[in-house]
Amino acid sequence: MINDVDASIAVAAQALARGELVAMPTETVYGLAADARNPDAVRRIFLAKGRPADHPLIVHLPDQSAIRDWAATVPPAARTLIDAFWPGPLTLVLKKAAAVDPIITGGQDTVGLRLPAHPTAQALLRAFGGAVAAPSANRFGRISPTTAAHVREEFPDGGFLVLDGGASEVGLESTIVDLSSDLPRLLRPGHIAASEIEALIGPLQRPSDDAGPRASGRLESHYAPAKPVVLFGTPAGGRLPADATSSDQWLVLAELPEGSGGLVLGSDPKNYARQLYGGLRQLDAAPGGRILIEMPPDTEAWAAVRDRLQRAAAGSREGG
Ligand code: AMP
Ligand code: MG
Repeated sequence: MINDVDASIAVAAQALARGELVAMPTETVYGLAADARNPDAVRRIFLAKGRPADHPLIVHLPDQSAIRDWAATVPPAARTLIDAFWPGPLTLVLKKAAAVDPIITGGQDTVGLRLPAHPTAQALLRAFGGAVAAPSANRFGRISPTTAAHVREEFPDGGFLVLDGGASEVGLESTIVDLSSDLPRLLRPGHIAASEIEALIGPLQRPSDDAGPRASGRLESHYAPAKPVVLFGTPAGGRLPADATSSDQWLVLAELPEGSGGLVLGSDPKNYARQLYGGLRQLDAAPGGRILIEMPPDTEAWAAVRDRLQRAAAGSREGG
């Protein structure tokens, strides 16, 4: 007898095969997936999200051996990281195989590849029998979804299937490492820390080492609530925003200022990360003017969270 989950995975795999979109849970955030071998299907992702065509998509593989279909070469450092971290929240950027359509790579000669760890994503990829291109299942620039309900909020008339796999464990997008040149480079910090990667393959160039435009959403507003976002605490400014009003919502580590509304996310970076996007959505939906966010400390454990907070604030007039 097949249960509901198996049945919906079979239905979702058939939808992918017909060129339709499917929202799938992953351990990082929910993804909006399409058959990576079908350019018309991949085009539907860009249309649904309102995503600019030059933003490359990550290809999610059904198994490790599929990497040969997508990468021109798999350098030894990539092998090392695959052995250590796949399946898991690590995306590798490698020279693309000739057959990879430029719509996936934003016209670049490299491709981002990942093997997700979420059992529902794995079951879908196995049932489909191929790779899917999948960015986060949100409208371009907005907060990434970490539950099926968030996806439905983003696309109320989406017209695609949303597989419910519970809340994403990690809650932030994957760590991205570019191994397509001789200088391994961190393109996006994530749950897997740069130091864990460096311990295995040596030093990484950091996003701040130059102003490379390839990293996800760099220098642009991304992961952004509709409300203005203001960062405070070192090094974003003084301790508390002097102009705070009682209508502002606060997102803090330990303690809300007296008489104010908001959320306390705690001082454990991984727990904080898991709750961040849901928390931002909640504060965005609450009445009130702005979201005031206490910046966590400038340590490696907080690097991914700080990166997302900085980008969430980047589009705000008052944002730091
Ligand atoms: P999203 O899933 O919405 O976080 O978007 C995927 C991100 O992966 C993109 O914005 C890129 O920054 C990154 N990415 C995917 N493929 C490549 C690539 N070939 N080169 C550089 N970055 C990539
Ligand atoms: Mg995204």
